[in-house]
Amino acid sequence: MKPAPFDYHRATSVRDAVQALADAAGDGKIIAGGQSLAPVLALRMARPKVLVDINRIPGLSTIVSVDGGVRIGALVRHARLVEQTGHPMLAEAARWIGHTAIRSRGTSGGSIAHADPAAELPVVAAALEATIHIAGPRGTRTSSAAEFCTGALETTLAEDEMVTAVDMPLPQRWGFAEFSRRHGDFGLVTVAAAEVGGHWRIAVGGVGSVPLRVEEAEQLLDAGAPVEQVAAAAAAATAPSSDIHASAGYRRAMTAEFVRRALVQEKERVAA
Ligand SMILES: Cc1cc2nc3c(=O)[nH]c(=O)nc-3n(C[C@H](O)[C@H](O)[C@H](O)COP(=O)(O)OP(=O)(O)OC[C@H]3O[C@@H](n4cnc5c(N)ncnc54)[C@H](O)[C@@H]3O)c2cc1C
Repeated sequence: MKPAPFDYHRATSVRDAVQALADAAGDGKIIAGGQSLAPVLALRMARPKVLVDINRIPGLSTIVSVDGGVRIGALVRHARLVEQTGHPMLAEAARWIGHTAIRSRGTSGGSIAHADPAAELPVVAAALEATIHIAGPRGTRTSSAAEFCTGALETTLAEDEMVTAVDMPLPQRWGFAEFSRRHGDFGLVTVAAAEVGGHWRIAVGGVGSVPLRVEEAEQLLDAGAPVEQVAAAAAAATAPSSDIHASAGYRRAMTAEFVRRALVQEKERVAA
């Protein structure tokens, strides 16, 4: 099927893009990498009146160092996260996103804004307590990753706002582990664990509509509890639902195993 007809606006600046969204009065959509939006348009599951293309906006493809981490511009492609950020945890997570063609086009801002519960970057953002930079016609604001995702494919973004960058702190120690049936598939369970400022945070994707922080498990890890105990506490904190891909019980068992693997990974890295 082909998309329904739409007007096309090639934005020249962030201000221009958010004004175009405001002018569309709720009937506009940003297109960045198009890796999630294009299929939705083709299936006519979305019929925006206007597509606002942000690919030519200068300054959105930069990666810069900020206090304690890196600021990833909204147009930074997943492939660059793998190669160029100097942020090993992000690089590892981005390697798990789809295939080469998807990583070459898909963007960090698109992944964060799309808020797919099985996507890798929102889980990493939750574990790192990332800060999301947002622009709209009324000015700019920031949001913590925890507050940004409100449900599956739902965020606090207003219809005329866009993500401009994400600040990802550099963890002192970290682990990332994902389980998917085939390489390149969205994860059934995705685990990101990061120690930032002396405290561990563990986020799990695939066990709910948004990345889940498992705080009891984090506290056990901070207190030096064995990895197996931390993993069991993380699994106990999840309440996944069953779907065509996996039962709830299977997802919970995978959570324990992949939290364990993420944490063992860090020990092995230190030992190597
Ligand atoms: C076959 C296939 C496999 C994939 N596998 C994975 C996977 O394993 N893991 C994974 O994480 N992703 C996967 N993806 C999705 C891919 O990572 C997308 O690139 C990503 O989800 C969205 O980024 P995008 O730049 O392509 O956004 P687009 O498709 O252009 O946009 C997606 C949505 O986000 C909005 N949007 C985009 N940019 C912004 C912005 N800056 N501010 C506000 N809103 C914005 C759009 O309006 C739209 O609603 C896969 C895609 C395909 C086609």
